[in-house]
Amino acid sequence: MTFSKITDNIFVVIGGTFPRCNTIVIIADEVVVIDPGCAVEDLRRFMMTQDLDLKDIDTIILSHIHPDHITHTMRLNRLSSCRIAANEITAPLFNEKEEMKQFLGFDKGNPVRILWEQLVNEKMFGAFDEGRVDEVLRNGDTFSFGDITLKTLYTPGHLPDHMCIEFLEPNLVFASDIDLTEFGPYYGHPNSSIPDFRRSIQKLKHGGYDGLISGHLKDPLVVDYKDRLIAYYRQIDMREDLVLSAIIEGAKTVPEVTMNPIIYPSLTNPVFMQFERWMVEHHVASLIAGGYIEEDKGKLSPI
Ligand SMILES: [Zn+2]
Repeated sequence: MTFSKITDNIFVVIGGTFPRCNTIVIIADEVVVIDPGCAVEDLRRFMMTQDLDLKDIDTIILSHIHPDHITHTMRLNRLSSCRIAANEITAPLFNEKEEMKQFLGFDKGNPVRILWEQLVNEKMFGAFDEGRVDEVLRNGDTFSFGDITLKTLYTPGHLPDHMCIEFLEPNLVFASDIDLTEFGPYYGHPNSSIPDFRRSIQKLKHGGYDGLISGHLKDPLVVDYKDRLIAYYRQIDMREDLVLSAIIEGAKTVPEVTMNPIIYPSLTNPVFMQFERWMVEHHVASLIAGGYIEEDKGKLSPI
């Protein structure tokens, strides 16, 4: 178990790369957990270092509905009876897991739905547990725990419900899945949005924070986050160039573009191939909107 101490009251239990995510723990007049996606045993061991236990958790806050971020919410709720807080888009999805599946593109007609459910149950067991959000948050809501004031900041693109959480004191932002990983921005669902993701990155870049806390980096506190966000943003452009190149070289459809995978070149799991197709579809839409390619009778061609 590794954790990072950000301040005397704010800690990050490291979850690392997908499917585990970093979990923020605030120890003030309440014990607050944000995104309980790290290994639950690691969270328990961390709590013990602070003379606390999992049953001492008072509040869980969710940044968005992705299974790797909500994994242990209901497990911890059953242990501690903690309240669960999420934003107004996330809350109904958490309350009704079929809605969540559809929101993520895995409606009952999706051919890889069962494989995706198996992946979630294998790697993120608990994410589909039924439960209810107690407190619904809106964009810009502020709330305090002891000396620490948090503020919600909607940052869609990754998913429409994605939000960051600002720490007003100290001046930090938990950026969740604007995570600055080498992989780059993830927008692999039908309702993800490249234009929104770009705007959300810019919003963080101009936030004037002293540091950004990533939802997935092993060294979670990034001080030079502005430069890192610029590089992160450029990864979208680089992928878009590769999609455009494939179309210039003759690919006429998204399946033809993904014959040589751009996002997941080394993976053959059908679930990840689905994510690849959705991400490439977003790039195709972006290239059409930018006037670089056109679509005629379902066939793509450069302009
Ligand atoms: Zn996510």
